[in-house]
Amino acid sequence: MPKRNEHRRNPEDVEITRFELLRIFDGDAAAVELFERNYFCGTCDTPNRRLVNYRVMVTKLNDIALQGTCNGCHTIAARYIETGEDPEKVKRIWAVLRERKKV
Ligand SMILES: [Zn+2]
Repeated sequence: MPKRNEHRRNPEDVEITRFELLRIFDGDAAAVELFERNYFCGTCDTPNRRLVNYRVMVTKLNDIALQGTCNGCHTIAARYIETGEDPEKVKRIWAVLRERKKV
């Protein structure tokens, strides 16, 4: 099956910034970087590849999807993070989303 060349967009997802993503991870840049390095590509297994130019989407389940490009093969790749299972992260997600609405 050929790989799609565009990410699926769910209209219910909310896009946030990488800065807000860092906030959800309580400033843990190493954790965020780990997600940028460990993702499903489906096309290549290039060593030291990275997820680049990605959008950060918060799903209805309070999970996070990083939707970007694999810099190993330049096709789309994504990383799903199940933050919805972590009450501390969910609290921070809500705080981020609340502040967005004020702007
Ligand atoms: Zn790749």
